Amino acid sequence: MAYDRDNIFARILRGEIPCKRVYEDDYALAFHDINPLAPVHILVIPKGEYVSMDDFTSKASIEAIAGFFRAVGETARQLGLPRDGYRFLANTGAHGHQEVPHFHVHIFGGAPLGRMLSKIETP
Ligand code: AMP
Repeated sequence: MAYDRDNIFARILRGEIPCKRVYEDDYALAFHDINPLAPVHILVIPKGEYVSMDDFTSKASIEAIAGFFRAVGETARQLGLPRDGYRFLANTGAHGHQEVPHFHVHIFGGAPLGRMLSKIETP
């Protein structure tokens, strides 16, 4: 899938749409999800143009990948999440129910999060 430069996260990166920023460095921007699913729900996005986890980990440089995942950890630390624990996930593609086609990691925390996933039966 080609990268769509008009996707909502590309527009946030360009400053065309506001966000509630919590962390930013050369590699990533972290901001509050507009529709939080937990007391803490943050999105972390890389600054480069990558559609998905698959696109990012196959095309980005080692420096960009390392910088991005360090930023995910730093974001969680700045929010004090390591003390009680947290979860991060990256929805990828159709089966992963990815809605925004700019790679992003969700960080959830602030309360016990329950099991990882309800069991999905083979169709
Ligand atoms: P995903 O299904 O992994 O693609 O999740 C996309 C996430 O982006 C959802 O949790 C939305 O609530 C969130 N989202 C969409 N638009 C915005 C926005 N303008 N600011 C912050 N979060 C957003």
